[in-house]
Amino acid sequence: MQFVTVHDEQIKNPYRIDPVVVPRAYRLRLRPDLERSSFAGSVEIDVEVVEPVSTISLNAIELELGAATLRAGGRTWTSAATTMNEELETASFAFDGDLPLGLATLTISFTGVLNDQLRGFYRSTFEDGEGVTHVIATTQFASTDARRAFPCWDDPAVKATFQVTLDVPEQLATFANTRELSSTSLGDGHREVVFAESMVMSTYLVAFVVGAFEASPETPVAGTTLRVIYPIGNAHLIDWALEAAQHALEFFCAYFDIPYPGDKVDLIAIPDFAAGAMENLGLITFRQTDLLIDPATASIQELERVALVVNHELAHMWFGDLVTMQWWEGIWLNEAFATFMEAICTDHFRPEWQKWVRFHPSREMAFAVDAQHSTRSIEYRVVSPDECRGMFDVLTYIKGCAVLRMLEQFLGAETFRDGIRAYLRQHSYANAVTNDLWSALEAASGEPVGAIMDTWILQGGYPLLRVEGDTVRQVPFMYAPASGESAIGATWKVPMRLRSLDEGSETSQLLEGESATIPTTGVTIVNGGGWGFFRTTYASEQLLRLSTRLGELDALERAVLLADTWSSVLVGRSRFSDLFTLARGMAHFNEPSAWDVVGRGVALADRLLDEEGRVTLAAVVRTLYAPVFARLGWEPIDAESAQTSELRALVVGVLGHQGRDVDVIAEATRRFDAGQVSGDLADAIVSITLGRGRPGDGAVCDERRRNASSPQEEQRYLFASATSGERDVVLTAFERCFDEVRTQDAPYLIGALMRNRDVGGEVWRRYAPRQDEALERFPSMAYAGMVSGAASFVDAQLATEVRGFHEANPLPVGQQQVLQILDLMDVNVAVAQRNRPTLGDELRDFR
Ligand SMILES: [Zn+2]
Repeated sequence: MQFVTVHDEQIKNPYRIDPVVVPRAYRLRLRPDLERSSFAGSVEIDVEVVEPVSTISLNAIELELGAATLRAGGRTWTSAATTMNEELETASFAFDGDLPLGLATLTISFTGVLNDQLRGFYRSTFEDGEGVTHVIATTQFASTDARRAFPCWDDPAVKATFQVTLDVPEQLATFANTRELSSTSLGDGHREVVFAESMVMSTYLVAFVVGAFEASPETPVAGTTLRVIYPIGNAHLIDWALEAAQHALEFFCAYFDIPYPGDKVDLIAIPDFAAGAMENLGLITFRQTDLLIDPATASIQELERVALVVNHELAHMWFGDLVTMQWWEGIWLNEAFATFMEAICTDHFRPEWQKWVRFHPSREMAFAVDAQHSTRSIEYRVVSPDECRGMFDVLTYIKGCAVLRMLEQFLGAETFRDGIRAYLRQHSYANAVTNDLWSALEAASGEPVGAIMDTWILQGGYPLLRVEGDTVRQVPFMYAPASGESAIGATWKVPMRLRSLDEGSETSQLLEGESATIPTTGVTIVNGGGWGFFRTTYASEQLLRLSTRLGELDALERAVLLADTWSSVLVGRSRFSDLFTLARGMAHFNEPSAWDVVGRGVALADRLLDEEGRVTLAAVVRTLYAPVFARLGWEPIDAESAQTSELRALVVGVLGHQGRDVDVIAEATRRFDAGQVSGDLADAIVSITLGRGRPGDGAVCDERRRNASSPQEEQRYLFASATSGERDVVLTAFERCFDEVRTQDAPYLIGALMRNRDVGGEVWRRYAPRQDEALERFPSMAYAGMVSGAASFVDAQLATEVRGFHEANPLPVGQQQVLQILDLMDVNVAVAQRNRPTLGDELRDFR
């Protein structure tokens, strides 16, 4: 049994196999049978027997295994018995007597099933332009599903080389992590394709794909070659990903100062894919919407999404693939860092997008979850690999990224980069733990990085900084007092950036205890730049002065000020009208990230008000948004910024929905009917039109979805049903999630349908009795997505019912996220109860 060290504590981990026999090189041969949904294979592994043993154990599950043979020094041993352990997912081969120490070759043959679960070695299908259905076989091994495709030591710390050979039908294309060395006809309708040996890496990064794919010509870039691979017929959708990937490879080689570690880069679009994308070395697999796109019709948000995902996965080639976490609790660092790098790289790719300002709305989601007592620390102890599945959430990706950004800004971008370079160089082709990164950053900066970051990584929550005069005091920020256990910490080491508006000066100060004195002259903000992962409240006269000087803040600082105010409304310390007053001062700023916060306030007010109150709200919305829309209009202004274009979409959306603006609704409908649905306005046009509940619009969306010319368009019309004002459209879409809709999309569509203001509760009531069926059908990483829409409920009785059900029927994966969703729901319910009696009058007064 292998020991693991977690937070300086040594524990025995039954999920890790004793390192008594260590793999060095795998030679894997596989022959998939796409028609029968099965595969046969054999694996030859060069191993080193380190201790005298008579049994060899490795990971395997859902495989039929033959006997194992071990060859060493001209002799061969054959295993006498095989024991499978389904709980630990291992196979143990018992030999007669001890095996010789030293180098040997282990061979095992096996067969398996190409499953429909989107994990291990699985099947996926697509229909081409002519309506012909194609079957493909592909892999998804992270975190621990390589063992479903071949027996192996399936542990991220047990690195080896991999050489793959595939026997595939002559007419199909095939790809693996490395370059193809040869392709030889076998004479039986199959060909044997031999791929080069990989670098030393972890099993979860192995990948291979077989099917009707085409590839772009090789583009030489940064000392390697790049291709985009796609299901046949999609050649017109690859240019954007190619451009982004080319930029990213050059950018990362320079940033990390280490060449790309593989022998080629293929980005491949897979029709059925559970995650967004997967960083298999050299063969990165993507959900189609995250790779294939038509820039002529896509929105900036959709283009950004593809660039972000491409950048994210390419960052992993270094951070994750070259240097890998020691065990699964380290996955947070992998993902937080890749999210951080995707933003840095995107900011370099399209500086005019202002990526870090755009990051603000995502960061708000992390803020919301992390103020619940059901939050968690970013890093926590993981014993079984299953436990790390709960780590793939907003706290890992977004809070993780946000605190790394805060650290980077505190240390200085160049110092931070130097620390990263040193860390990667030191641990290349090996494994590392979180503290290794902090040590490298400490060496580069001389700052107590570990001590600072432990307060952000090893405890949940974040502080509220109360500024009164020259005193700053920190208290944990929370939406409700703790009634039982809480994961929210007590104090943090807070990097403050003090910016004096009057002097134009900026200084850094670390708030270490509960309070500190800061130098203030005139108006000083403590979250200068807006990078801090904390909330701030200022004494009322300070806030008043600040709100008259919005123009002296930068875009992210303005978004932060609005968000801090909104969070204060949610906890009952401020009123809706305080947020709307700030919004009035925003009329001249084309800043979607700040307006997004206002939109959240409007949406929640609209949910909790009765019809009379909603009419009043609509008038308030028109007061706030109409002046902005009057400036922006429907048509793009020459050479306008990305922010302007996005703000137009946001403003049109709010005016058309909660604002009930008849002209906006009429024009949106006209465009929908004329099929003028593309670019940034596309989603708003579709959702405003559907929101009217006109009979027949649901069918139009179905038709357009079936004939969609890009994955984004297909998704747009698939998810349109969630905004429908026609009850039947919403409920029919829900039913379809259990047959027609791809299992990669259905869980998220269910979540979106629950967010429908009028029918969402009914969707949930239909979902609850079918939860078991859903668990059977959908990939486990999407489970919590199904319930996500419940966070928007504001009805107390429904909320009690929802909580009762989900506490009694926990999800096998993602239940912690469900508890957070329930807590978010309770926040909204509390806001509704507190504001319902008075909000109508408050809004009338505001006008
Ligand atoms: Zn990732």
